Amino acid sequence: MAEFRIKRLVSGGLITNYFCVSSCRHCLYNCSPYWEKKYISSQTAEENLRTIRKLGCSSVHIGGGEPLLRLEELGDVLQIAMKVGVAVEYVETNSSWFKDPDSAMALLLNLRKQGLQTLLVSISPFHNEYIPFSRIQGVIEAARRTGIGIFPWISDFIADLSELDAAGTHSLKEFEERFGQDYVTHLLQRYWIHMGGRALETFRPYLAEKSAQEICDENSGGCAAELLNTRHFHLDLFGNYIPGLCSGLSIKREDLGKALPAEKYPILTTLFHEGIRGIFKMAQEEFDYTPAKDSYINKCDLCTEIRTFFVQNDFGGSAELNPKEFYKNS
Ligand code: SF4
Ligand code: SF4
Repeated sequence: MAEFRIKRLVSGGLITNYFCVSSCRHCLYNCSPYWEKKYISSQTAEENLRTIRKLGCSSVHIGGGEPLLRLEELGDVLQIAMKVGVAVEYVETNSSWFKDPDSAMALLLNLRKQGLQTLLVSISPFHNEYIPFSRIQGVIEAARRTGIGIFPWISDFIADLSELDAAGTHSLKEFEERFGQDYVTHLLQRYWIHMGGRALETFRPYLAEKSAQEICDENSGGCAAELLNTRHFHLDLFGNYIPGLCSGLSIKREDLGKALPAEKYPILTTLFHEGIRGIFKMAQEEFDYTPAKDSYINKCDLCTEIRTFFVQNDFGGSAELNPKEFYKNS
């Protein structure tokens, strides 16, 4: 039987904050303006980065929420990474902070002095529901003029966004009206979207086809492969390690590298060995849980509903269903 232990970290990032000016409809972490306005402390950043390095990973990206909402703290994180010997591949931004070219250049120059080399700039119809494209264009230009690299994520949408008024925001409905009724479903082929967090609600009307029983029948194995995958890991401002891409699940940083005890992580242990069938059974036996919906997209959709139900019933190990705001801000 596979051992539940995060032995080595391959590639991942640091989540500095979950609060954001936007509530994008694909956001895996359910970020929004409604989260507590908490940013990673210098101490947590250093402890996270030292752990990452100790487990074999020497570079990270920095993401959120929107990391550039607290510039001083972000500068501290960049300097700490340098001190610890972990390279920062890029910092993600949604460009919401852009006001004018001069202030953007001053801000980026300051961050560059502290170690910023590349910005991943979000460009998508989801982001455009909240942030005008003109701000993104402003950030790209300011980065170019200050010698900061740009990682456009993704440039394929520039053509679509350029057809709409760049000074305003546009709903997904507007995109559908302009580009066709199947525009939103086609986004699944054009953009990397992990079916978790808010993407579940957004795509459920298009994709949910299976009952909870069918989902359980089709997924008889455990989720070891997903939970042990460290190719896109994250450690957050609370010292939580998020296993795989399973947002809302957490492992305490201090437990990385060790075999995870079932008493401390009952839900994670069940998911690891028995998968969705295991926690479905657990929810039925503990609380007479019955599925709230007629149909689900996949096992992760049902898993998210069951975990939300556990949080509402104050069930599970205190280390494993975090941050709790994830379950309240969907
Ligand atoms: S996807 Fe990015 S910009 Fe959108 S809500 Fe999530 S963190 Fe904020
Ligand atoms: S069912 Fe749950 S634990 Fe398994 S991969 Fe999906 S979200 Fe992760």
